[in-house]
Amino acid sequence: MTQPTSRTTAQWQADDTRHYLHPFTDHKQLAGVGARIITRAEGVYLYDSDGKQILDGMAGLWCVNVGYGRRELAEAAYRQMLTLPYYNSFFKSSNPPAIELATLLAQVTPPQFNRVFYTGSGSEANDTNVRLVRRYWDLKGEPSRHIIISRENAYHGSTMAGASLSGMKSMHAQGGLPIPGIVHIEQPYWFENGAGRSPEEYGLHAARQLEAAIERLGAGNVAAFIGEPVQGAGGVIIPPETYWPEIQRICDRYGILLIADEVVCGFGRLGEWFGCTAFGFRPDLMTVAKGITSGYQPLGGVMVSDKVAQVLIDRGGEFYHGYTYSGHPVACAVAVRNIRLLMDEGIVERVRTDTGPYLQRRWRELAAHPLVGEARGVGFIAALELVADKVSRRFLPDRGASGLICRDHCFANGLVMRAVQDTMIIAPPLVMAREQIDELIEKAWRCLELTARDLGMRT
Ligand SMILES: *Cc1c(COP(=O)(O)O)cnc(C)c1O
Repeated sequence: MTQPTSRTTAQWQADDTRHYLHPFTDHKQLAGVGARIITRAEGVYLYDSDGKQILDGMAGLWCVNVGYGRRELAEAAYRQMLTLPYYNSFFKSSNPPAIELATLLAQVTPPQFNRVFYTGSGSEANDTNVRLVRRYWDLKGEPSRHIIISRENAYHGSTMAGASLSGMKSMHAQGGLPIPGIVHIEQPYWFENGAGRSPEEYGLHAARQLEAAIERLGAGNVAAFIGEPVQGAGGVIIPPETYWPEIQRICDRYGILLIADEVVCGFGRLGEWFGCTAFGFRPDLMTVAKGITSGYQPLGGVMVSDKVAQVLIDRGGEFYHGYTYSGHPVACAVAVRNIRLLMDEGIVERVRTDTGPYLQRRWRELAAHPLVGEARGVGFIAALELVADKVSRRFLPDRGASGLICRDHCFANGLVMRAVQDTMIIAPPLVMAREQIDELIEKAWRCLELTARDLGMRT
């Protein structure tokens, strides 16, 4: 094994600052403090260059579903690299892992999905969605249907189309986004927007923003609606039960395609294989990435329903789209092994019936803290709203500040919990055991105490 700690933390940080432009990072600020250097990981724990152990409440970046250090995945990659490290899927070629994975995906996804278009990431998959749905409507003889409706505060990636579909104003402000033909409606964020309405009423209200947008734009101009079953990066926004069925009704009524971005929810995060199953809707296209390989290799894809695939295949001729790494044999071999681990070890089942309910029960105990306005979650994803006042749900005056304070306390106390403004979020590896969940809750409570103290709150 390599010895990554043969250099000191300060040496790593110096070179990091000099040469490495990090994603989603204020570089000047990072240079001031130096990056945290993660050198290895095992199970649900990370280790940094000082040897400090950190409980990973975020599964890397929502992806390490089977946990770290799985030899089966390393061996799958190693064997595939020796057999066939790379070959493309252009020019009438294919490879066994890509075929095997496509077959397995058809098995584990909802029945309307029998085909996959491979990409290297979730962002590329959502770019593919834009290309696919516009191509679909062209072939159907309705080329004016080109607008894709998404939601404010959605996250669909960081490429030009991915960032455009995303509903993050900060991203749009850099680089002249969104690209034309993308419209955003209200997100189903009951805690912030639902005052005076029950969650059920608010869910219908939020979904009907889609209907209003379609009426305004003209149904003949709308190609598709895209949404994450549960918004991840936007702050673990869990829509009320009434939301998705109403979205489905509206999409059916106006004949527009429904795209589920399952990059976070897919492969067991909610205790079901896919978020659309958990919420009872039936997408025409589905974005997958992250958990498909548990992050051991970069891989994404679009699951294409028979309805859409048939039009492309029967009438489409050549679809001028694809990536060098579409169907990458090593990434696909790792994905096959990863999905088999999820199946053979009953990992999704365990989240649904055992550890998921346990995590959610314990997580709700945090709602007793004076700083917490809401503790919500489903399966292995959860959020806390940090507020100035529990009853009025008022956020603290300096929006975002308490989240950062809490996040820093978490790191210092050996826990990765992420902050989105003043919402603290977790999405742990799906293999996290009950004792480790206890450790997570204990540490989270301690960090809430430290945060409240810093904010001068009485607890
Ligand atoms: C992470 C993410 C993406 C983008 O995936 P990348 O692999 O980072 O390009 C898209 N959609 C959702 C919901 C995500 O969480």
